[in-house]
Amino acid sequence: MFEVVKLNAGYQFRNRFVHAVRNVSFKVEDEDFFGVAGESGCGKTTLMLASLGLLKRPGKVISGQVLLDGTDLLSLKVSDLKQIRWKKISLVTQSSMNSLNPVMKIKDQMADVLVKNHGFSKNDAYELVKEKLKLVGITPDRMESYPHQLSGGMRQRVVIAMALLLSPKVIFMDEPTTALDVVVQRSILQQIEELKKKEHFSIVFITHDISLLFELATKIAIMYAGEFVELGEAKSVYSQPLHPYTKGLIEALPSISKDLDKYKSIPGRPLDLALKIEGCPFRDRCSYAFERCEVEKPELRFVDGRWVACHLY
Ligand code: SF4
Repeated sequence: MFEVVKLNAGYQFRNRFVHAVRNVSFKVEDEDFFGVAGESGCGKTTLMLASLGLLKRPGKVISGQVLLDGTDLLSLKVSDLKQIRWKKISLVTQSSMNSLNPVMKIKDQMADVLVKNHGFSKNDAYELVKEKLKLVGITPDRMESYPHQLSGGMRQRVVIAMALLLSPKVIFMDEPTTALDVVVQRSILQQIEELKKKEHFSIVFITHDISLLFELATKIAIMYAGEFVELGEAKSVYSQPLHPYTKGLIEALPSISKDLDKYKSIPGRPLDLALKIEGCPFRDRCSYAFERCEVEKPELRFVDGRWVACHLY
């Protein structure tokens, strides 16, 4: 239903190009919970912005396709994209305070998109806003509030309700609970799961918190240096990670029962994506690296029921 095919995107700074998304492909089926995880700076957010046609200059998509029900979103005019956004595909952003307009009442900013882009009358728009706010547990009297009058958790729920306004088929969520405390985070994630079951949408969930994905996602992609290095069913990736980077991320996960001296971190730092990469992009941080890794870039291969890019397989 939703498919990204060989997407390449990045940022042009004079004669320096930061190649943030490198040849990424994936498919999201009906009602999938597709998670993308990786360290900060690995290209996750650029992948999301490029997929939604929201990458602004100096960002640009170099090549690839983003197919929604067979239509390539990257080939559409902005006016056509506006018709598809919210209706078929929408977005929940990272920090609700930054995505809500501080000087507009909740009801007006939510209704705005319906009136301006989808031909709703103001009254019909307010009715729909009321209905969607109820879905996320916000009472209609809060429609009159300004964002600063709501708690962080409520603001995030408003942003989720906004993404649900026109019952899209696919919702991108970019670290939607990062700025919240763990208790609120838990309740919002539970609500997202319940809404997904009720409204039957698919989720592409982007986060650096891989533990969240192992709990929630059906499929998971591990991203490193702009590429997917492992992709498969979340449960099997967790129980039997293949790529050394995935193994490192799992070994670094905190656990209540684990002794502090058993934690391992991945040595080194993420790659500078402006550099030309030769060999395996992970080789300087990989304890399994061998000669071939220096000279030959591993391609994604289907191994044991999942995709992995590593010369060990
Ligand atoms: Fe490590 Fe080599 Fe596999 Fe890259 S290809 S992850 S360097 S073993």
